[in-house]
Amino acid sequence: MVVVMGPEASQADVDSVVDLVRTAGGEAFVSSGVSRTIVGLVGDVEQFSTLNLRGMPGVSDVVRISVPYKLVSREHHRARSVITVRGVPIGPDTLTVIAGPCAVETPEQTLAAARMARAGGASLLRGGAFKPRTSPYAFQGLGEAGLKILADVRTETGLPIVTEVVDPADVDLVASYADMLQVGTRNMSNFPLLQAVGSAGKPVMLKRGMNATIEEWLMAAEYIAQRGNLDIVLCERGIRTFETATRNTLDISAVPVAQRLSHLPVIVDPSHSGGRRDLVLPLSRAAIAVGADGIIIDVHPQPEMALCDGAQALVDSDMRELASVAANLAPLVGRTLTPAPAVTPVG
Ligand code: PEP
Ligand code: MN
Repeated sequence: MVVVMGPEASQADVDSVVDLVRTAGGEAFVSSGVSRTIVGLVGDVEQFSTLNLRGMPGVSDVVRISVPYKLVSREHHRARSVITVRGVPIGPDTLTVIAGPCAVETPEQTLAAARMARAGGASLLRGGAFKPRTSPYAFQGLGEAGLKILADVRTETGLPIVTEVVDPADVDLVASYADMLQVGTRNMSNFPLLQAVGSAGKPVMLKRGMNATIEEWLMAAEYIAQRGNLDIVLCERGIRTFETATRNTLDISAVPVAQRLSHLPVIVDPSHSGGRRDLVLPLSRAAIAVGADGIIIDVHPQPEMALCDGAQALVDSDMRELASVAANLAPLVGRTLTPAPAVTPVG
C-alpha cells in the first residue's frame, strides 16, 4: 500500500502518517521525488485499511498495489515520470542522447569524446572512472582522477556527467562529482550498492542485469526508491541469450513492457547490447522507434587505441549521422530532441 502526499503536504503531515503506521505495527518508507512525496507501507494491508489514512492532512491518495515493486509501479503513479539531471530532462516528451567514452582515459581523450558527443546531439556526458571489468587484468578505470577529469570536461563543454559506481564505499565520492550515478549490469543485484545510491541524493541510471527478468530489474529499482530516491532511469543494455553474433541481445520489447509496468523513463544502450560499431545506428533507430526515452552511446576519438570497448565506439562521422537520425526520428515519435545545456563561462 502506498500513501501519496499532496503537493502542499508539510513534513509534519508526512511524519504523522509515518507515526500512525508505525503505531499500528507496520513500517513506512518515505520517498521524496522531484514533484511529490510518497510513503510506502509494509505490513498488514487489512489493518492499514482501518486507519483512515485518506482523511489525514496532506494525504492526496491511498493506493493498494498488487505488483511486488510498488513505488516504481504505474499502479501507484499513472503518469510517466520525468527525471531531471542538472536541468536536462529524461521523460516521455523528449529524446535524450547520452554519449561519451566507455572509460575516462586521459583529459584530452575525454574532452575530445565530449565534444564529439555534444556535436552529435548529446545533452549528457557518459564516461566510466570506476570500470566493472570481467577480467581483473583489464583496465579498471582511473578512479577519483577520472572523476576530476569528468568535472573539468563538464565545465568546458556544459555537459552534465553520468558515471558508474561499483562499490557502496565509493558512492559518496562519486556522487560528489557526478550528476547521475550509473549502476551497471553486473551490479543490478548488488543490493547494498542499490541502497547506497538510493541514499546519495543524485539521480540514478539503473542498467538491466544481463541475466535479469524485467520484474527483477524493477525490484532492483524498488530498492533505490525505497531509500527515498525516485529519480531513477532504467536502461535496457542487452541480455544473455544463445546468440553469439552480438555481444548481448538487445531486448527491444523490454522498453514498452517496462514503460507499461513502471512510470520510470526507459533508455537503451545500443553500444553495449550489440558490442559492434556497425550495429549502433540500426539499434538506435529501433530504440527510438519503439519509444525509448533516450539512448546512451559510446564514442571515442581513436577507438583503435581505446582501453575499453573500442569495437563498439562511434567515431565523429558516425556520431554526426546519429545526431541527424535522432533529430529526424524524434518528431515522428512525438518527442523533442533534448538540447545540450548552455556552456557557462568560467571565471
Ligand atoms: C558501461 O556503460 O560502461 C558498462 C560497463 O555497461 P554495462 O554495465 O551495461 O556492461
Ligand atoms: Mn563499455
